[in-house]
Amino acid sequence: MINGLIKALLVSTLLLVSCRVNGQSITFNKSKSIEQQQRLLVDSIITDHFNIRLTKSFTQTDKLKLKEVISFLDAVILSDEFKKKVINTDFRDSRRYYMRNYKGEKIQIQKKVSSNQIFEQIVNGDDALGKVRADCILDIYLELKSLDIRGGAKKGMISTNLENFRQESLTQIAGNLMHEYMHVLGYVHKVSRRKVRDRLDKKDVPDGVGQIIYNWKE
Ligand SMILES: [Zn+2]
Repeated sequence: MINGLIKALLVSTLLLVSCRVNGQSITFNKSKSIEQQQRLLVDSIITDHFNIRLTKSFTQTDKLKLKEVISFLDAVILSDEFKKKVINTDFRDSRRYYMRNYKGEKIQIQKKVSSNQIFEQIVNGDDALGKVRADCILDIYLELKSLDIRGGAKKGMISTNLENFRQESLTQIAGNLMHEYMHVLGYVHKVSRRKVRDRLDKKDVPDGVGQIIYNWKE
């Protein structure tokens, strides 16, 4: 009886920690370069669910702001509310195309997925930028840059508009980051013009997930 109880406890603990590896507070470390971009990543922010590598484009103030953004996202993505919102969204073009691993190699996926699977991919950190896929860590390579657009993701590297980053609220930045992360996972815009997409009822995966966070009530 007692043995059974201990076993049950162990199993439930194992299930509980499966997506809570890492468990560290936010720290900055020296980090190596991302091979496909040959950009030097000088810092990283590590939380329960995120490993964010940064180029030297971040000032100390920027890093502190980003830390708040990531703490917020860390709490949100495992919440019931986030899960409900993602799985209840009817995404337009929920096809996953391909993504890049940390060496810059293309990983073909080409698969239509359900909203449930999209949620799973997010919480499992199903990018190819860590050493292991689906390691429950969302790996993000990030730089701040002067851009004409809000941001973009190329070969696994996310660029964020520097002016926007410094002016925007936490939820706006977090929403944009999750939008770009969905590109990292292999989702694209079939309609390239933002203004046209904004008028469409159904959102594609990057816009849809981004907006869930963007409109989050803190
Ligand atoms: Zn986009």
